Amino acid sequence: MKRFSGLNLFAEALRGHTGWPEHWPDKEPKKAYDVIIVGAGGHGLGAAYYLASKYGVRNVAVIEKGWLGGGNAGRNTTIIRSNYLYDESAHLFDHAVKLWDGLSQELNYNVMYSKRGVLMLAHNVHDVQSFKRHIHANRLNGVDNEWLTPEECKAYCPPLDISPNARHPVIGGALQRRGGIARHDSVAWGYARGAVAHGVDIIQNCAVTGIRRGPDGAVLGVETEKGFIGAKKVGVSAAGNTSVVMKMAGLDFPLESYPLQALVSEPVKPIVPCVVMSNTVHAYISQSDKGELVIGAGTDQYVSYSQRGALHILEHTLAAICEIMPIFTRMRMLRSWGGIVDVTPDRSPILGKTPVPGLYVNCGWGTGGFKATPGAADLLAYTIAHDAPHAINAPFHLDRFRTGRLIDEAAAAAVAH
Ligand SMILES: Cc1cc2nc3c(=O)[nH]c(=O)nc-3n(C[C@H](O)[C@H](O)[C@H](O)COP(=O)(O)OP(=O)(O)OC[C@H]3O[C@@H](n4cnc5c(N)ncnc54)[C@H](O)[C@@H]3O)c2cc1C
Repeated sequence: MKRFSGLNLFAEALRGHTGWPEHWPDKEPKKAYDVIIVGAGGHGLGAAYYLASKYGVRNVAVIEKGWLGGGNAGRNTTIIRSNYLYDESAHLFDHAVKLWDGLSQELNYNVMYSKRGVLMLAHNVHDVQSFKRHIHANRLNGVDNEWLTPEECKAYCPPLDISPNARHPVIGGALQRRGGIARHDSVAWGYARGAVAHGVDIIQNCAVTGIRRGPDGAVLGVETEKGFIGAKKVGVSAAGNTSVVMKMAGLDFPLESYPLQALVSEPVKPIVPCVVMSNTVHAYISQSDKGELVIGAGTDQYVSYSQRGALHILEHTLAAICEIMPIFTRMRMLRSWGGIVDVTPDRSPILGKTPVPGLYVNCGWGTGGFKATPGAADLLAYTIAHDAPHAINAPFHLDRFRTGRLIDEAAAAAVAH
């Protein structure tokens, strides 16, 4: 794969950029692979990349029913942070945040990771207590998080209304300075290009329709729209469709799939310098490099695979944004969209082996898996390569819903983006 460099760009500019190879050529599937990954989102492509580049498993295919990066990887609002409450979660998400650093250099592809800080607003006594608890817990885990006064919040994010007579007065905020955003589709494209450079086949427009198991119950491969493809190891990273795929192997997964929406405004000059979240009024906002305000909503209250959500959820979100930043009352919205998120009972992911030998799973990231992309991908690859989980993802085993050792981030945070 030809590297992006100043010299190569210059040379290509002189010949009309005709010498760049295809990033990910269309491949017909081979008869068999060592490992098949189902789902070409950031997590699946990243897992294939790390399998080939870090764990020495090069005979790998990623099978995608649509186009790569067309799922939640290309639909999310790109918030990155690791200030989760429980030790297990903090370690998991901070593993990812550490990998975000240097990812552009590693992939030779600019994922536009911008550490502009994630500010979570407190509007009542409960918020203050909860955020301060997070700050102390995070610091014990070596994760940065600090308390800001209302005036410090305003200085960090000037469009905020901190007047005491606001409907939802800002009485402080928790700031993770290492938090921020990245360019979501670049992440998928960067991993795809990196994986292909290490010999991975990416097969698009090819839905997995079945998982074939041998007489001993172990995985033999997957049935697809292009026929049977053999593999003794299959990793499922299908986000909102995971329970459907796992059912093909005869497994019932503790997942519910909900539509989650986001929307963007018309572009304006830079005005929101960080990510601002308000769990209480349930809205969050950042500004893209193009100038659009990127606004995220909550999930619909019913399960669905429709990839579009209810209008009243968007209305509520925009009302909330106008409450905390009245400066935006006259902004026009350009477009909205939805994705299907896979939610577990304790709102923590499932990442590890399954009861079916040779079948591995990475799911349940719900509304907050983009931030985890490099970490989840690395840990899924590790688990597949070693047929055993890494210490970081060991607590996120499916078995916790049987044993009761839950990691209850649902109780810890209302909005988990
Ligand atoms: C509106 C919205 C906002 C969000 N905001 C944030 C945020 O700010 N921060 C954050 O951390 N997270 C956020 N998320 C969550 C995040 O996007 C997801 O948790 C994460 O992207 C999931 O991993 P992925 O990228 O690999 O999933 P996906 O990109 O969805 O990849 C799964 C792939 O599997 C494929 N697939 C499914 N079934 C099959 C099959 N049978 N055969 C073959 N392929 C199949 C799908 O087509 C899809 O491409 C948001 C999600 C949405 C929808």
